[in-house]
Amino acid sequence: MTPDTRLPRFLHALRRRLALALLIGIVQPAPASDNAIRDLLDRADNALRSDADVARGLALEALGKLDAAPDADLELRARVVLCDALIETDAAGAERQLAAGRAALKAATSRAYEADLLNCEGELRSIAGDTPAALRLFERALAIAERNDRPDAAAESLLRRGELRSRNGDLAAAMGDLRRSLLLFDSVGRQSAAGDALNSIANLYSRLGDDTEAAAAYENLLRRLDPDKSLRDYAVIVHNLGRVKEAAGDWPAARREYELALDLSRRVGNSRIVGYALRGLAAVRLADHQPDSALDLLDEAAAQLRKAPDNWLDAQILLQRGLVLQALHRPAEALTALEAATVELERSGALFPRATAHMARAQIHAELAQWQAAYENTLRAKAITENVLRSQIDQRYAILKVEHDTASREHENALLLRERAAIENSLQQERRANRFKLVAIVLTGILAATLGTILLRLRRSAARMQLLAMTDELTGLPNRRAVLERLDRILGKPSDKPCSVLIADIDHFKLINDGWGHLVGDEVLKTLALLLRSGVREPMALGRLGGEEFLVVLPETGLAAAHQVAERLRLQVAALDTRGLCDDRQLTMSIGVAVGLPGRCSASELLSEADTALYVAKAAGRNRVHPSPAPTTPEPMATPG
Ligand code: GH3
Ligand code: MG
Ligand code: MG
Repeated sequence: MTPDTRLPRFLHALRRRLALALLIGIVQPAPASDNAIRDLLDRADNALRSDADVARGLALEALGKLDAAPDADLELRARVVLCDALIETDAAGAERQLAAGRAALKAATSRAYEADLLNCEGELRSIAGDTPAALRLFERALAIAERNDRPDAAAESLLRRGELRSRNGDLAAAMGDLRRSLLLFDSVGRQSAAGDALNSIANLYSRLGDDTEAAAAYENLLRRLDPDKSLRDYAVIVHNLGRVKEAAGDWPAARREYELALDLSRRVGNSRIVGYALRGLAAVRLADHQPDSALDLLDEAAAQLRKAPDNWLDAQILLQRGLVLQALHRPAEALTALEAATVELERSGALFPRATAHMARAQIHAELAQWQAAYENTLRAKAITENVLRSQIDQRYAILKVEHDTASREHENALLLRERAAIENSLQQERRANRFKLVAIVLTGILAATLGTILLRLRRSAARMQLLAMTDELTGLPNRRAVLERLDRILGKPSDKPCSVLIADIDHFKLINDGWGHLVGDEVLKTLALLLRSGVREPMALGRLGGEEFLVVLPETGLAAAHQVAERLRLQVAALDTRGLCDDRQLTMSIGVAVGLPGRCSASELLSEADTALYVAKAAGRNRVHPSPAPTTPEPMATPG
């Protein structure tokens, strides 16, 4: 195996191992035992609704496993399940689980399950009859559940508080709680708990005497329930629906529902529901004028009651028995039953049935000519009925208000949400646009800076090139082209003031080159350029024409003044100390001077004249200034005749 094939194979294996490790990490984020406990607790939670004993068993099993691997969060969950499972049968046991739960909460990492603990505690207080404490606990549980994003626990608090409020006659507030609870349970898919909320809502409507709404709620509930899964619940709801139909006087419907409830409850083997259904059917028989048959059904119901004691059912059966006996014209027995029913009903706080009982008693007393008792019972019945009706009307108004407020709040919320979504959307678009804008600005900036730099460099190099193109390399003076351009510009602008030029040429320069070498010749040229530069100031211009010849341009200068300048320059050169360069060799210059009027002569003409003058100066023995023989002022052109 060659080294270059070994490396990729090694990397490939490493990648596979990493992928495997990741996969294991995803599939098993927590230790296996944790998952087993969680699974047990989930199952216990689910079992709570159907079978409290099963739930208890599962929670205890979870606690057993937690002994080996303690986890405060999981223990808290187990304690909550146990508290709920024991609540109806073993209040003391439930209290102990509550205390253990509170201890676990102190060590727990999350407060999410504190809401469930408070819900259970509230329920315990509610059962013990401490309604204010229960209400406070449900309130706290609700706040914690909402803070910890636990809609299921919040729904539980609302359901329990709603039921408590409903029982206490605070029907409007109860309706608000129950409706919210229903919404929340539905939103988290807790079907059977949502059913409980709907059932409580239906009961509330029934309590309000709103049979239509109550029937609608029960029917809704029946549609949600799966009789195969929760036959017992189904039977209860069918019975309740029968009750609403009975209250509305819809006897055929009442019979249908009670018969179904009886059939279902017998199938489940639930004596209590059987008892309730029988009582309902007895009422239907009485309405059908079959009091004998009704009495048989009531006997059967009472027999069921002995198997499953229930004070409420007991009171219902007694009341129904009194009414049946009244119909059978057995007043003494009827009164006994009705009086017993009144006591039971008073204890359970039921109002309407009590009014019914008093009314029946009043009628029987009247039949027996016991006017005083008849009068008293009539008054009681009237007072209770008026009371109930007034309270029902008040509560209905209050509920209507709650429903209206809730509906308008929901509407407002929906509008706000839509508005917020729209704002959020436009903000996002704006942010995106701003980001693009920023990127564009930055890119443009970078581009501009780059272009600017390039442009600057180009301009600089162009300027440098220009300078190089116009400068004499050796002396640094403007070269021939530069100085002639300057002269052209001056002569191009017509003027009355003359312009002069000097051509200065070093005398016998060749001898320096020959005698001391070209390099010394160069040095001499540079030295001379320096000297000329210091003697020629603006507006005069100086340049090297080539070789050892220099041009001086003197704008607005006549021949005499130019001659003076030339003479000065000549003398300066002649006075130059050249010992460091070419020993005792004296440097001299001959200068030709020419003058012309701008606009009237060209640069070449002026140069040519200066050159001629220079030639004369050379010929005359050098080291001298010579003006051009005659100023160049060309004749005006003849006017075409
Ligand atoms: P005259 O007095 O008649 O002007 O004599 P001259 O020797 O100065 O003139 P000539 O034209 O005979 O010689 C000029 C010499 O200048 C010839 C040339 O080699 C030299 N020369 C021209 N340009 C340069 C230069 O840049 N450096 C050096 N060292 N010599 C140059
Ligand atoms: Mg020359
Ligand atoms: Mg010369």
